[in-house]
Amino acid sequence: MTSTLLVVEDEADLREFLCTTLHAHGYEVHAAASCAEARQQFEQSQPDLVLLDLGLPDGDGRELLVEFRQEAGNMPVLVLSARDQEEEKIAALDEGAEDYLTKPFSTGELLARLRVLLRRGQQGRPQEYALGGLFIDVDHHAVTLDGRAVHLTPIEFDLLAALARGEGRVMTHASLMLQVWGKQMQENTHYLRIYMRQLRSKLEADPTQPRYLKTVPGVGYCLAMER
Ligand code: CA
Repeated sequence: MTSTLLVVEDEADLREFLCTTLHAHGYEVHAAASCAEARQQFEQSQPDLVLLDLGLPDGDGRELLVEFRQEAGNMPVLVLSARDQEEEKIAALDEGAEDYLTKPFSTGELLARLRVLLRRGQQGRPQEYALGGLFIDVDHHAVTLDGRAVHLTPIEFDLLAALARGEGRVMTHASLMLQVWGKQMQENTHYLRIYMRQLRSKLEADPTQPRYLKTVPGVGYCLAMER
């Protein structure tokens, strides 16, 4: 089945490049150069995925992100961000964007991200995750490493499960705090560091060279998965 994509990007060259490339790879592509056009195209084309630039002439792409989330909760949004938009990018991930690409990006990188996001959109959320020797069964609160059961505290488990649900995406400090500890604790990010250290000591052969639990400096953490 052909996937329908909506490209929201005000830089004409990049927009045209994206449309041409994605069309050539078999996607149905709609394009918008502003927030207003994006809202219109979103209604008309009902895309399976949106590629979203954050800096648009008539508003902030993050506003669109929130609106799209409300209308189509499961539709993945891939943020296209410029290098100087680090904070906006993190805020977009907090608001529910699935992933981001920093400009300039390669065609191969773009297509790989799209395949992962679209496949996940079709499958829904799995409750079991396997990564190398690590196996996480969310329903049964069970974790094994190289075939042996690993005993985690409830908070350690919740943190690992939150990372696993990200499936290789970077999870920001704020989104992990929110998922594991709830809103009232969101400022206390030192908890996150403490529990990450505990998780690494239980899951990593060498916690200083983590194989699974990766730090993304200034942003958050991810559970490394093959893309
Ligand atoms: Ca822009």
